[in-house]
Amino acid sequence: IHPYGKKRKLMLTRDVTAVELADTMRRDFVANVSHEIRTPLTVLSGFVETLQNIPVNETDRNIYLGMMSQQAQRMQMLVSDLLTLSRLEGSPAPGEGDWIDIEELMAPAVQETRALSSVIAQPPHEITQVSEIAFSISGSKSELHSAMSNLLSNAVRYTAAGGAIRSGWHLRSDGWAEFFVEDSGPGIAAEHLPRLTERFYRVDRSRSRETGGTGLGLAIVKHVAQRHGGQFNVKSTMGKGSIFSISLPPSRAQQITPAQQALPAFSESTQD
Ligand code: ADP
Repeated sequence: IHPYGKKRKLMLTRDVTAVELADTMRRDFVANVSHEIRTPLTVLSGFVETLQNIPVNETDRNIYLGMMSQQAQRMQMLVSDLLTLSRLEGSPAPGEGDWIDIEELMAPAVQETRALSSVIAQPPHEITQVSEIAFSISGSKSELHSAMSNLLSNAVRYTAAGGAIRSGWHLRSDGWAEFFVEDSGPGIAAEHLPRLTERFYRVDRSRSRETGGTGLGLAIVKHVAQRHGGQFNVKSTMGKGSIFSISLPPSRAQQITPAQQALPAFSESTQD
């Protein structure tokens, strides 16, 4: 309350809910990151101490070094995902100028997914690329690639060996372009679905850790979708599998006519 003029007082009020919420989120985030880093650091320093103080044979030494390298990799992945998130938050949203053929996005993503599956699953998953009509989308190629590979690698990591994974881009009847990944994995209970994109939220904590998860993958996917004016969606049935998708608005999707497909390169002026 500020006195002013002759016996007058001015009362100012300010809603600080958002400020307090942001403060709580910042504190939680720092606590979560510290927690995520503490475990690998404890393991690493534990083994360093062992190797410094106790004579160990060649076999044990190799086992310890293997575990140390695993923990170092875990921290590297965490830092890399944190940097991706901060880049996404700190840079302007991608414009609508760069058109990318969906095949250009799908081919490397599917190739990576098959490679990951053959390394971590025996037998590997049955991975099908569902290709429909040719179209291009506008946005950031690296961000879209990161979102797609996060969804595809999750399908591989959470679906039992030999399971089925289907993925592709399609143009919906309402004009939105949608990328989806469908798996025959364990599915996710309904109560977890709204929280999946929270940073460090995990349903299957041990599976996430075992397969090198950081708990940040879906937060990155949602960010990328929103930066493109799009949406992130997940449908899942326990015991049957999940369908994760990102959809981009019609202004970011453009069908490629057969004539355009034949051209080695096309500019915006050649599009309808
Ligand atoms: P993580 O690095 O732990 O995989 P994400 O943010 O990518 O983190 O995913 C959050 C959680 O959602 C995972 O820990 C996992 O429990 C669950 N999840 C993600 N994708 C799938 C899937 N395809 N099937 C079952 N559970 C999944």
